[in-house]
Amino acid sequence: MSGQLQVASDDGAERCTFCPRDAAGPCASCRRPVCGDCCTLTEGGVKTWAICLDCDRKKGSSLAGPWAGFGMFLVLILVVLAGAVALLAWLGG
Ligand SMILES: [Zn+2]
Ligand SMILES: [Zn+2]
Repeated sequence: MSGQLQVASDDGAERCTFCPRDAAGPCASCRRPVCGDCCTLTEGGVKTWAICLDCDRKKGSSLAGPWAGFGMFLVLILVVLAGAVALLAWLGG
């Protein structure tokens, strides 16, 4: 992953990954520096996490991904079961 466009310059001030402003802190997920405007604050128990826009988007799509795969898996099992039942009925009859 080469998403970092700007490496921290030698003056020590890190830039936000998404805009030219100074970064407020690192993303809790990917550790890229983000400013206050380019991150989403997520309440995670006692701590508040700053998640960058990229990770926030990925998290949203990754929630749908596994569930869609799980649904396909269930459908596949049902098809296989139906095929097995049909086969047994054909063999028995
Ligand atoms: Zn920013
Ligand atoms: Zn991130």
